[in-house]
Amino acid sequence: MEEKAKVYAISEKGLLQTKELYQYILDTSVFSRELQPLKELREVCAIHPRAWMSTAPDAGQFMAILLQLLNAKRTIEIGVFTGYSLLLTALNIPEDGKIVAIDVDRAAYEIGLPVIKKAGVEHKIDFIESEALQALDEIVQNPDAEGSFDFAFVDADKVNFWNYHERLMKLVKVGGVAIYDNTLWRGTVAMPEDAVRQKLKEGRKLTIEFNNLLAKDARVQICHASIGDGMTICRRIS
Ligand code: SAH
Ligand code: CA
Repeated sequence: MEEKAKVYAISEKGLLQTKELYQYILDTSVFSRELQPLKELREVCAIHPRAWMSTAPDAGQFMAILLQLLNAKRTIEIGVFTGYSLLLTALNIPEDGKIVAIDVDRAAYEIGLPVIKKAGVEHKIDFIESEALQALDEIVQNPDAEGSFDFAFVDADKVNFWNYHERLMKLVKVGGVAIYDNTLWRGTVAMPEDAVRQKLKEGRKLTIEFNNLLAKDARVQICHASIGDGMTICRRIS
């Protein structure tokens, strides 16, 4: 019951036709399978005033299956927050896998860190406290980094999504996957601008621009999935 109440809060940004339908998915297929450390992390991080920013458990389940199908070993995450998608990634790559995790906000990362430690996966994480663009530019300069990542999850400032994409098209190997999050921006991408709440307008504009650029990008195969707040899966093909 308590879980239900929490997820109603998450579902505000969901795109399904009804909250009941979303709840149905969670109750039937998600909560029963969500790993204990991930449940724990959600609980610990609920104290954060922006806890709604965390990746929702159904979207996490989708990422987990992709990580497994790809046999992902080296991954990169841009936008860690309190670590739901990070812990999920750590739990779905091998013991000797590595995640480069970038965020400007170390304090948020540290809220979830005890759960990550308890789950025994901290050794897979290389947390970089930095502006993501700066960190990526440093990584790109290393010739060994080219094509060295199997998977990337991008969930930070939307204004830089295309900049991140340009760098990731060097860092993620051909055949690897980059996922961009929030690419339906609460459904506003399909609304006329004047029907959109002021605080969502800028994000809507940036998301529309990014989606249009990705749709034309021949370097990737794409799938614009309506899970969570919209996730675009890009498989690098050249
Ligand atoms: N993936 C996370 C949610 C990320 S929320 C989860 O599953 O919980 C977005 C995060 O992006 C925030 O923690 C914010 O600090 C970070 N962020 C925003 N702009 C950034 C930037 N320019 N560089 C690095 N991190 C940034
Ligand atoms: Ca997100």
